[in-house]
Amino acid sequence: MESDIDEQQGADLLARLIRNELPDEHGRYGPFGGCYAPETLVPALTRLAENVYRYLDDDDFMAHLDSQLRGWVGRPTPLTLAAGLGKRWGAEVYLKREDLAHTGAHKINNALGQALLAREMGAKQVIAETGAGQHGVATAAACARVGIPCTVYMGAVDIQRQAPNVDRMYQLGAKVVAVETGDRTLRAAIDEAFRNWVADPEGSYYLLGSAVGPHPYPYLVQRLQSVIGTEAREQMLNIAGELPDLAVACVGGGSNAIGLFHPMLADDSVEFLGVEAGGHGPGLGDNSATLAAGKPGVLHGSYSVLLYDGDGQIQDTHSISAGLDYPGVGPEHSLLKTIGRVSYVTATDESALSALQECCAVEGILSALESAHAFAGAREWAQQNPGKRILIGLSGRGDKDMPTLSQHIPSPLVATGDAA
Ligand SMILES: *Cc1c(COP(=O)(O)O)cnc(C)c1O
Repeated sequence: MESDIDEQQGADLLARLIRNELPDEHGRYGPFGGCYAPETLVPALTRLAENVYRYLDDDDFMAHLDSQLRGWVGRPTPLTLAAGLGKRWGAEVYLKREDLAHTGAHKINNALGQALLAREMGAKQVIAETGAGQHGVATAAACARVGIPCTVYMGAVDIQRQAPNVDRMYQLGAKVVAVETGDRTLRAAIDEAFRNWVADPEGSYYLLGSAVGPHPYPYLVQRLQSVIGTEAREQMLNIAGELPDLAVACVGGGSNAIGLFHPMLADDSVEFLGVEAGGHGPGLGDNSATLAAGKPGVLHGSYSVLLYDGDGQIQDTHSISAGLDYPGVGPEHSLLKTIGRVSYVTATDESALSALQECCAVEGILSALESAHAFAGAREWAQQNPGKRILIGLSGRGDKDMPTLSQHIPSPLVATGDAA
C-alpha cells in the first residue's frame, strides 16, 4: 500500500492514538477515516458524534452499561489456557472467550452499548444492517432488552442463506426487511439502511455493526469493543503473570480485533497480528483480504483500504466465513498497518477449517469459522516464533456454521456393530 507517512510521523500518530487524540475533530486517523456522507446525513452524524463524546465520558451511562454487560451479556468473559493447542504448537496459548458472551459472539458488546445510547438520544426506532445475520441477532436482542423497536435490513440473498438467524431476529421482535437492490447482500443492505436513516434522522438511530463507516462509528465501536482487550489484559496479568508476546484476532470490518488490540497498543512488548480471510487464494474475487490486497478509497462514508478493480468498481469477495466477507476494513486498522504497529496476514478457507477441527479436537471448543482464521494465523506465527505466549481473540462460537461445516467435513456415522 502506498503511503506518505515516514517513521517519525508514524510514531507521532501512534502516540496520539494511544492518548485518545485520534480520531481528530474531522474523524481522521492520520490519512484515513473521515466522514464522506451525503449532505442530508451530516446533521445526524454531527449530532451522533456529540452524543458519543458526551455519553462515553459520562460516569452514570458507563456504570449502567457495565452493569448490563455483567448481568445480561455475562461479562467478564473467561480467559482460557489452551494447553492442548500450546503443546502442539510449541507455545503458551490463551483464548479470550467472546464465544461465551450472550448471543454467541463479541457483537453484543457493540449492539448493547449503541442501543443504550439510542435510548438516551430519544430514538423512536433502531435501524441496522446485517450480512450473515449475527449483528442482526445481537441488535434484535439488545433492542428488546432496552425497549426500542428495531428494523434490520438484510440482502435477499443473505436471507436465503441464513434462514435460522432470520428466525432468531423475528423471535426477538425485530422486523426484517429484504433488500432486493444492488448485490442483494451486505453492501446493498448498508446502502438501504443509510437511505432509511436519511428519511428520519432524528427519530431513528442507525446501529452500525463493525468499526467501519463514517465518523463517529469507527471510534464508537472501538470504545464499546475495547472491553475485550481491557479485560484480557488484566486477565493475562492475573492468570499468566505477564502480557502476551502476541495478540491475534480475525479481521472482517475489524471490530473484535480493534477491541482486543486497542487497549494494549501502548504495551511495547506486545506484537499484534490481524488475520484476514484468504478464501481460495490470492486471485481477484477469491478472498476478502482487504489490507493484504486492497488500495485506499472511499466506501460507506470512510476513507480506508478497499478491494476494487482497475475501473474503481468494488470487488466481489469470497470467504468461507460470512462474517469476514466484506470488501472494506475500519480506518484505524488501515492506520495501524501503515505505521507498522499491527501486522496483517491471511488464512485460507482450508487452513481455517483445519484450525477449527484442531481446536475442537484438543480444546473441546467449536469456534466460529471467522475466529478459526485467527487460530490459523496464530498457528503459523507460532511455527516461526517458538516458545512464545500467544493471546487469541475467540470472537464467537461455531454453532451457526454447522451447515457449512457439514458440507466441508463429512460426519462419520458409526453403526452399533462397529462401535467397539
Ligand atoms: C461478525 C463476526 C466477525 C467479523 O467482524 P469484525 O467486525 O471484524 O469483528 C468475526 N467473528 C465473529 C464470530 C463474527 O460474528
